[in-house]
Amino acid sequence: MPKFQRIKGTHDILPQDARKWRYVEGVVQEVMQRYNFDEIRTPIFEETALFARGIGQLTDIVSKEMYTFLDRGKKSLTLKPEGTAPVIRAFIEHSLGEKKPVHKLYYISPMFRQENPQAGRLRQFHQFGAELVGSAAPEADVETIALAVDIYEQLGLKKYTLKINSVGDATCRAPYKERLKDYLRPRLDKLCRSCQERFDKNPLRILDCKEEGCRAETAEAPLIIDHLCEDCHAHFEAVKSLLSRLGIAFEVDHRLVRGLDYYTRTAFEILSGALGAQNALGGGGRYDLLAEELGGKPTPSVGFAAGIERLLMVLEKENLLSDFDSGPDVFIATLGEEARRWAVQTARQLRQRGLRVDYDFLGRSLKAQMKEANRSGARFALIVGENELQARKVVLRNLSSSEQETVAIDSLVGELEARLGKPG
Ligand SMILES: [Zn+2]
Ligand SMILES: [Zn+2]
Repeated sequence: MPKFQRIKGTHDILPQDARKWRYVEGVVQEVMQRYNFDEIRTPIFEETALFARGIGQLTDIVSKEMYTFLDRGKKSLTLKPEGTAPVIRAFIEHSLGEKKPVHKLYYISPMFRQENPQAGRLRQFHQFGAELVGSAAPEADVETIALAVDIYEQLGLKKYTLKINSVGDATCRAPYKERLKDYLRPRLDKLCRSCQERFDKNPLRILDCKEEGCRAETAEAPLIIDHLCEDCHAHFEAVKSLLSRLGIAFEVDHRLVRGLDYYTRTAFEILSGALGAQNALGGGGRYDLLAEELGGKPTPSVGFAAGIERLLMVLEKENLLSDFDSGPDVFIATLGEEARRWAVQTARQLRQRGLRVDYDFLGRSLKAQMKEANRSGARFALIVGENELQARKVVLRNLSSSEQETVAIDSLVGELEARLGKPG
């Protein structure tokens, strides 16, 4: 039994999988760039109070899932459980709003939550996300939604659903909450325990409960969509009409709500049907009141975040991740001491020309080296012994066609580049 094992709820991403991660992250970066979003990297840990404020003291994340610890100076720190609060903290700290009015920022980062690994939950997981900071316009909501959709499209995903809703704003939500509570009060004892707790602090979240009983009790509940103020209504209509103009299909889901007061207007979620039951790939929405909550100036903003692990599972399921195993361009197989030294030198020379090159490190027989060359997936093998060196030529073998030819050492670089289709 090995002495050390990884912490439950964490994963090692081994080389074969790391290639898939790099591909997905590359697509994310490429699409972000097309939308002119710039990358921002914030620290892995922050002051605990930032998340208590920025996510909400009453949420499950803050009350039971954060990795919080005291450092040696007895300061309470927390490994970031989500990306938005740190981005807005950085936005305020660096007064980015004074440099230009609208900022479009994205991140790809590990996140940490102390969740139950038995339930398949990860304690270190990874997200990409984007925040459009500084605009209240419906175009900004549509920009982030289209961005998320285009990332999934670019990856080849077909089976997904976009759900949207509006959760109103400071003007219309308070009176709606009262109506909702009036409706729920006589049904309170039929709701699940968590919903009973939500009744005072967070009644909107009751609409979001997955329990059969709660869903039945709330089937006839008043909907926020019917109680939006004029501005929120106009905003929602504009978002829907712009999405339609872009040909982005959506469903309005009245149960899509967010618990915290600084979330405003548009909420959205993208679900995949590939994993059986519908699974959230990512979601987001408008949070016009968060910057103030974190001590900044009023800064209307909208964003989304999406999990990378679940996305990879879906892509795998849909067969959209094949062909990532590529080997070196060239494997150098040698016979004799002098040829081995030549291999070290030639490998570096070829690498400096941009070729991917490997050779044997175990002093194996030529036969074993050729086996290794094949296993490595290399496109070509260079076969060199004392005789070849003396004649200043090497054997070049195409490992997929098994064709062999003799090439002069002096023209080796050019010959290889020509066969690999690389510019000389
Ligand atoms: Zn419930
Ligand atoms: Zn409103």
